[in-house]
Amino acid sequence: MSESVVVVGAGVIGTAVAWRCAQRGLSVTLLDPAPERGAWHAAAGMLAPITELHYTETPLLHLNLDSLTRYPSFAAELSEEAGQPVGFRECGTVVVAWDGADLAALQDLHAFGARLGVESSLVTGRELRALEPALAAGLPGGLLAPGDHQVDPRLLHAALLEAGRRRGVTYVPSGASVVGDASRVTGVRTDDGTVISAAHVVIAAGCWSGAISGVPAAAVAAVRPVKGQTLRLRLPGEPVLRHVLRGAVKGTPIYLVPREDGQIVVGASSEEAGYDVQPRAGAVYELLRDAQSLLPELSEAVLEDVSTGLRPGSPDNAPLVGASGVAGLIHATGHFRNGILLTPVTADGIASLVATGELPDVLQPFAPTRFSPAEVPA
Ligand SMILES: Cc1cc2nc3c(=O)[nH]c(=O)nc-3n(C[C@H](O)[C@H](O)[C@H](O)COP(=O)(O)OP(=O)(O)OC[C@H]3O[C@@H](n4cnc5c(N)ncnc54)[C@H](O)[C@@H]3O)c2cc1C
Repeated sequence: MSESVVVVGAGVIGTAVAWRCAQRGLSVTLLDPAPERGAWHAAAGMLAPITELHYTETPLLHLNLDSLTRYPSFAAELSEEAGQPVGFRECGTVVVAWDGADLAALQDLHAFGARLGVESSLVTGRELRALEPALAAGLPGGLLAPGDHQVDPRLLHAALLEAGRRRGVTYVPSGASVVGDASRVTGVRTDDGTVISAAHVVIAAGCWSGAISGVPAAAVAAVRPVKGQTLRLRLPGEPVLRHVLRGAVKGTPIYLVPREDGQIVVGASSEEAGYDVQPRAGAVYELLRDAQSLLPELSEAVLEDVSTGLRPGSPDNAPLVGASGVAGLIHATGHFRNGILLTPVTADGIASLVATGELPDVLQPFAPTRFSPAEVPA
């Protein structure tokens, strides 16, 4: 009989781990009471190692770049196995400067990226308008990151569920608590009390990963919810944007992600609001106001959707991927702003760990055990 693995959480990470494990011949059970509450449902799907680069996060940059290089083949293989599209678009990203201070910040980012070997180029205001003719007039310039792309997280998630189903993943629509003791985890208990035994339990429950009952205290994941809102708009006629567009309007970050079918995803707020998922009128107003400042035509758009999601934040903004320190329990969580981007490298790494006991080198710096108990939310 093949070795068994239970995956707790059917967001993008859990479904991808389940699919990759099933491809390796493992017997996989995936549990989730409500997959659509996952952060993936609100996520814009930017695959943006370069334009998400933060000065204190260079180890994460290498992981992000690794995952980005996997995306073309990951998306093609997934689409083929699931028999449906995943919305992967190699469209590049343009970052717009609102004023001279923004331009100086982009020059610094460009220089910092160049030192790390990542490709981007500075563009003048005139070049910006040539790249994106629908932009507001008078913007002073920007930065082109030709390697930062996008995928549609809703298509991606649907394809991952279907590909897993075709590979024999058993999906159980239930919450899960962990069964075992302080030294070893032996399976999970579903909401109706059924115990599912497994050689490996993978916690992929996003921002809820630190709140799964039954997890031994020493192995509780250091994650917290960080609320974010996105809007989905549609303009009549031909698509007006060619690239993912990012910027900051008077200091507030904003992005516009144009889908192939003409939809534009606008995001995102970032709020420390616990597990609250109510849409906030002020956040919607600010997103519409700032998006329209960059793309005036948006005043004519239809507002199709307002979504709220909870990013799984960690103390250092990097994911927790690998052995938890308790036998039988593995974490694949804490992906914060980059979970869609990090889906391929995480799924490949966890499948390798489960099947062979080896976690690839690129994931070694992201061991869940790197945090002290004091950093784990109570
Ligand atoms: C507004 C917004 C914009 C974003 N934009 C981007 C972006 O452009 N690019 C990018 O790379 N990332 C982006 N992200 C981040 C990305 O969405 C997350 O990092 C990613 O979705 C995390 O995936 P996950 O599978 O770990 O968690 P989730 O997608 O949140 O899924 C977790 C699942 O676990 C389930 N669960 C919880 N508890 C239990 C339990 N006890 N038993 C069983 N199941 C359970 C939940 O029901 C949920 O379905 C964005 C996020 C937000 C909110």
